[in-house]
Amino acid sequence: MYWEKDKETMSRNDLKALQLVRIRESIEKAAASHFYGRLFSELGINAGTITSLDDIKKIPFTTKDDLREHWPYGFCAVPKEELVRMHSSSGTTGRATVIFHTQKDINEWTNLVARSMYMTGVRRGDVFQNMMTYGLFTGGLGFHYGGERIGVLVIPAGAGNSKRQIQLMRDFETTVIHIIPSYALHLIAVFEELGLSPRNDTKLTIAFLGAEPHSEKTSQKIEELYGISAFNSYGLSEMNGPGVAFECPWKKGMHIWEDAFYIEVIDPDTMEPVPEGGEGELVLTTLTREGMPLLRYRTKDLTRIISEPCGCGRSHRLIERIKGRTDDMLILKGVNIFPIQVEKKLMEIPGVGTHFVIILEREGFNDLMVVRVEVEREFFSGDLKALEKLRRTIIEELKSDILITPKVELVEPNSLPRTEGKAIRVIDNRKDRL
Ligand code: AMP
Ligand code: ZN
Repeated sequence: MYWEKDKETMSRNDLKALQLVRIRESIEKAAASHFYGRLFSELGINAGTITSLDDIKKIPFTTKDDLREHWPYGFCAVPKEELVRMHSSSGTTGRATVIFHTQKDINEWTNLVARSMYMTGVRRGDVFQNMMTYGLFTGGLGFHYGGERIGVLVIPAGAGNSKRQIQLMRDFETTVIHIIPSYALHLIAVFEELGLSPRNDTKLTIAFLGAEPHSEKTSQKIEELYGISAFNSYGLSEMNGPGVAFECPWKKGMHIWEDAFYIEVIDPDTMEPVPEGGEGELVLTTLTREGMPLLRYRTKDLTRIISEPCGCGRSHRLIERIKGRTDDMLILKGVNIFPIQVEKKLMEIPGVGTHFVIILEREGFNDLMVVRVEVEREFFSGDLKALEKLRRTIIEELKSDILITPKVELVEPNSLPRTEGKAIRVIDNRKDRL
């Protein structure tokens, strides 16, 4: 049941002691980079500065802007000859950030992904179809190597080409998939088009859902429609990619691998730690990386630490499903809204289809939120009254949660644009008009 029992079930005290040693080692390694070298000498920081885990606060945060400003090699802590791989974040604004790995880094990362996959029940003999983009994005190669490490048959399908995905699944009797949740919902329509159902016409048992925020309901919907067990997979390229935190079969949260990452949760405004269990921005420190160590990296992802131990026996703490990124937060009429709140509500309403988009408009001096929602096919062939009733229900339900009355437009299934990668949930037309 464990990939590495000793590491996964290590006592909290041993884990903390290991983290302390590794933070100090990481400081030593990081000092060789241009960025940290200069920072440490300015502030007089060295491994000796850290005598307890709490001392990590003496190190300033590192941000995505720091990575951008020291592009491309300013964070590399080893000579270029030792680097074997580069990846990059999928950020859509500004210059992408790049991350470099040595062979040892790749081995460590691969091991974390293998550990995560094994935890969910993946074993030799499984056929694993990796439906993520291969290339600079980490979801492709990261899982590919993890799967091979366990010894499963990996099908490097890549993203998109839905009909071929389904054919691969059926021809080679795929049992495990790695897929973006919004794409998993979209693929259902393609199955239907082919007169097939993923539940009855495939051998799927497990899906890894990752790369974008998704609600519990969406995960459950995918589980029902595919007849599988879905596991939430969280990661970011700055922390390798997948294999940072992963759901276990107890499904009470995601275990964050604390032998590889030191976790802090801060209030993004004050930058002070939140009380244990409070919601805030996840800040991560790499504990084993040598090509490009990152210390106190502000992920911008919002979550909380779940304090209760998990029934599975792993001692690495659980974090809650990611609520969104601080930079995804919409501010409308003074109210803060995360797209996942809209998703969560929509997915609870019977009749709502698989896709939606939020469009923000400016009407005079007012902001207007339009939610365009795909509904199930039956509604379009049926009574107009039923459609209007559904529209009103959606408005009421959303209003009860986000406190704003949105304009709701119902559209036919599969009429909203799809992306192969992360879904685009928000179109902000307000900026153009300013
Ligand atoms: P990238 O570095 O391009 O792979 O993007 C990483 C970002 O994707 C993270 O910082 C999160 O905002 C988001 N992300 C990845 N996995 C998940 C997940 N399971 N749930 C929610 N957001 C996720
Ligand atoms: Zn667990």
